[in-house]
Amino acid sequence: MSNSTTRTHPAHLQGFATPLPPFAVPDLLVPNALAEDEREWVLQAPNVWFRPLMFNVTQGYFVNILRVRKTGVLSRHRHSGPVHAYVLKGRWYYLEHDWTATEGAYAHEVPGEVHTLYVPEDVPEMLTLFHVTGTYTYLDEQGQLLGYEDVFTKIEAASKHYEAVGLGADYVKRFIR
Ligand code: FE
Repeated sequence: MSNSTTRTHPAHLQGFATPLPPFAVPDLLVPNALAEDEREWVLQAPNVWFRPLMFNVTQGYFVNILRVRKTGVLSRHRHSGPVHAYVLKGRWYYLEHDWTATEGAYAHEVPGEVHTLYVPEDVPEMLTLFHVTGTYTYLDEQGQLLGYEDVFTKIEAASKHYEAVGLGADYVKRFIR
């Protein structure tokens, strides 16, 4: 979704109205990343939602905000690619590490890592922006495969959700590049 707001620049800044190069994909602005409209939040498990910001189908990554209103173990998973995380609210940690990601923290999760996401009991709401490349492979405690997620499963889930809440299945397309 291009930001097509018409602005009047001072005369000496007029040259900044440079068009995109041919074949470039449209830019993307999500003005309300922490959407108040509940329809923007896709339920992925009881009391766990994600808010799509960007689905990149050519580089195989997605950017979203995870919202969690439950505590304890969320999932055990393995990453095939890197993850960048920025904590907007609350805090969480991985059972496998001795650090805690608190509000304002940035974390980098490395490809190949298996970890178990845990939200402490005194955190009523956790919000974290995740930039996820590749696949989440979900595992149980014995290391057995439970399922996987990637940009394509996220798009499908979001599309179904938007259709169900009346925004339409195609609403998801605004996030795809
Ligand atoms: Fe992870």
